[in-house]
Amino acid sequence: MNSRDSEHMIAELNRKEPYELTTTLAEADLIIINTCSVREKPVAKLFSEIGVFKKRRKDGAKIGVCGCTASHLGKDIIKRAPVVDFVLGARNVSKINDVVDTKHAVEISTDYDESSYDFAEYRSNSLKAMVNISIGCDKSCSFCIVPATRGDEISIPSTLIVGEIAKAVKGGAKEVMLLGQNVNNYGRRFGSDDEKCDFVELLRKISSIDGLERIRFTSPHPLHMDDKFLEEFASNPKICKQIHVPLQSGSTSLLKEMKRGYSKEWFLDRCRKIRELAPDASISTDIIVGFPGESDDDFEETIDVLERVRFEQLFSFKYSPRPHTPAAEYQNQVDPTVASERLSRLQARHTEILDEIMDAQLGTIHQVYFDELKPNGRIAGRSDDGKLVFVEGSEELLSQIVPVKISKASRGALDGIVVDHP
Ligand code: SAH
Repeated sequence: MNSRDSEHMIAELNRKEPYELTTTLAEADLIIINTCSVREKPVAKLFSEIGVFKKRRKDGAKIGVCGCTASHLGKDIIKRAPVVDFVLGARNVSKINDVVDTKHAVEISTDYDESSYDFAEYRSNSLKAMVNISIGCDKSCSFCIVPATRGDEISIPSTLIVGEIAKAVKGGAKEVMLLGQNVNNYGRRFGSDDEKCDFVELLRKISSIDGLERIRFTSPHPLHMDDKFLEEFASNPKICKQIHVPLQSGSTSLLKEMKRGYSKEWFLDRCRKIRELAPDASISTDIIVGFPGESDDDFEETIDVLERVRFEQLFSFKYSPRPHTPAAEYQNQVDPTVASERLSRLQARHTEILDEIMDAQLGTIHQVYFDELKPNGRIAGRSDDGKLVFVEGSEELLSQIVPVKISKASRGALDGIVVDHP
């Protein structure tokens, strides 16, 4: 989501005057730090990065802090680091041109409605498009700062989404990644009362775009994984068979404390349904360990879900207390050493599972969409189920979807040989 926000800011800046991206800091006239604040670490990193940029920047180069940390710290960022020229919240990226030339401007309102804003076009990779389908988040997970930094959830009108994707397809994209905090809650609220469209209807509209071959989305919420949605996921040939199902914890009582709205049984039942309808789909997840009150038994429930579902990708985090969240005030915080041990155990077991999943790919054939040239005559792409695949090849494979036979498997990626290329 932050990557897409960065693209939006670049596009908007270019409406006013031409900017070019640079990887050489000393060349930059404008430095934008687009921040996250889901965990505490990135916040600390922000101020050390500002210090580095202050020292090494070109004379007179401006520094802007954007994104979720900008939303929650606001003008305190300028107080602490007066070298910062402007602060722009995660919900205000469309206002970049209003702040870029105003010394110490701060735009962070979380009730600002960007849902029908028609952003200018900029894509870092023209072969695959990221497209927002909603902004904000309506959940109240007790650990999560996102609703406080991105505001209430509003769906973007389907006509805007379809138009944006059609434009990206004309520009060469065969794949789209739909973005939102809870994509399968799409359509619950729009900026205007006339709009009506749910996520399944949106997926159908998007699939009818000529030239678009692949649809991915992130993140769906387990609570909204009803049968209608999972049936569309499984049966629509344009929808890639890769799904993120963020668990957070395997303990029903902890899920209740987290205010996730589902139980361990519901989560397992939804994963069972995915396997029943789409046996080849890969399932990934997010897990937090060391949430306040997590006992050894609670943690065992999480390990149990890992054993049963065998997630292909696991994003796992040690609980980090965040401002504006109820869980930060809970008295039963878990000892950080215990949380670290649990995290290591979870990750070690997941690594074994991942190795087994990847080894089983040897000799299989995947349809790979090649979207990135690599050094040393290699080219990279993704299989339908989201695996990173490398082959020997050059430009002529770029933007093609071709069958690849897997010849080597490692933890993060697969190597293969194109088997049937015209
Ligand atoms: N909307 C998504 C969450 C986006 S944040 C959802 O509901 O699933 C991405 C991930 O960061 C979360 O899924 C969670 O696993 C992790 N996370 C959020 N808050 C956290 C915190 N306070 N400490 C540790 N991890 C956290």
